[in-house]
Amino acid sequence: MTPPSVVVVGGSIGGHSLVQYLVSVLLADTRRQKLQLPMPRITVIEPRRGLINPIAIPRTLVDREFAPITFAPPSAFSDAVLDNVDFVRGSAVFMDSGKVDVQLDDRPEKLCLPFDFSTIAVGRHRAPFVMPPQTTKAEYLTFVNNYADRFRLADRIVIIGGGAVGIELAGELKYFYPNKTITLLHSRDRLPPEPSLDPGFSVQVLDALQRLGVDTYLNTRVTSTAPADKSNFSIGKEIVTTLDGKEFHSDLTVWCTFRGNPATEFMDPKVYASTLDEFGVLKVNPDMTLVGSPHSFEHIYAIGDVNDFPVIKTAGGAVFQANIVAQNLARQINIAQGLYESCKEDIPDVTICETWGDAHMAVIIGQEMAVCQTRQIGLATDLKDTAKIFGGDMSTSTMWKSMGINQSTEFKSLDNHAHNSQSEKRGDADKLASNGK
Ligand SMILES: Cc1cc2nc3c(=O)[nH]c(=O)nc-3n(C[C@H](O)[C@H](O)[C@H](O)COP(=O)(O)OP(=O)(O)OC[C@H]3O[C@@H](n4cnc5c(N)ncnc54)[C@H](O)[C@@H]3O)c2cc1C
Repeated sequence: MTPPSVVVVGGSIGGHSLVQYLVSVLLADTRRQKLQLPMPRITVIEPRRGLINPIAIPRTLVDREFAPITFAPPSAFSDAVLDNVDFVRGSAVFMDSGKVDVQLDDRPEKLCLPFDFSTIAVGRHRAPFVMPPQTTKAEYLTFVNNYADRFRLADRIVIIGGGAVGIELAGELKYFYPNKTITLLHSRDRLPPEPSLDPGFSVQVLDALQRLGVDTYLNTRVTSTAPADKSNFSIGKEIVTTLDGKEFHSDLTVWCTFRGNPATEFMDPKVYASTLDEFGVLKVNPDMTLVGSPHSFEHIYAIGDVNDFPVIKTAGGAVFQANIVAQNLARQINIAQGLYESCKEDIPDVTICETWGDAHMAVIIGQEMAVCQTRQIGLATDLKDTAKIFGGDMSTSTMWKSMGINQSTEFKSLDNHAHNSQSEKRGDADKLASNGK
């Protein structure tokens, strides 16, 4: 009997975590080993040749030395994944309920991939500077270093939008360049604005930004700046004005006001009419299968930023959902391969995604402070203690570990970096900035 096929669309935080977990669960199952069941055919469709840690992007954009550890090339993927997963380099351009068409990166023709099971983990379209579109590590480093150079050369930087990215970018810039004027303008009375967070979260964020020296303005809506380029930057001296008449001189203005549209345009709207909401977000059931009517989609899942699961969208949430889906997919694969019948076992229940809190978020502010709220502990109170959880490298080594990335071969400098990037670098960065002009 042909083993079932699984196609994962999108191979970043959610998609890669899923295949890592799925392969581990199936390989560790002694019942499968005894029955000598072949592994399913697992294919990941992803244009990028490797993984970026998005959590670390705010520091990557500021610190050239830090950037290399934030991109894991395929050679660092775990052996279990490399041995059991095919990676198709390209983008899904059409998907119905049983096949996906892929536009290959390096060839003009399209590839058609039929599937028995699928998981969609395509995230959202984002501004290039927060999710660099480059597909190789070399291109990625050139791209992010270019931003680091722009920041280095500007004395007064205005960041518009106090969501997590705006807050963290402001924090990194002020930490790395204490002598620059960093201004954060936010139109609402809470930062970040997510309503499910404890009001104390915003108070702590503001406190941390002020301690660091970021000039932070709440309830301040920007009415005019020079037009930003496609990457959300406008470079050159300008005056940023606000609805209440304030004016800020800026050498570099960065818009961090994006929300990002789901990258689901490749899904056939007729087939997925009951699943796609008006914005292209995928409606999911508690087990992360697509909501379907009149037909159900018990064989297709959506995880991470692309679905409507009512949580703040985070990497941690995507990894958590990947773990749940891996268990459910393993169950379905085992059913398809007759494992429970052969072992005379009852089929286990579907696992549902109920234990991740709706208000789970962390923001790192300038390397030595962080604000964090989770379902388990609520709002953490000590900014410096909380920062230690992120290991001095914006969770990069933790992220790679959870995704099975082999850091010993590809990221030898990782541990050293966490140490080097602490306070002794701060003054150096400012000196370099003034020498570079
Ligand atoms: C700058 C920044 C900072 C962040 N900071 C934090 C943080 O501190 N903590 C935290 O928990 N979360 C943070 N997040 C959020 C976190 O990164 C996301 O929630 C997480 O990446 C979602 O994972 P995902 O797999 O759903 O989507 P993504 O990680 O966005 O991955 C989607 C993948 O799908 C691929 N793709 C898209 N379209 C197609 C297609 N048609 N065919 C094939 N592949 C496709 C893309 O190339 C991409 O690799 C941050 C995000 C950003 C951008």
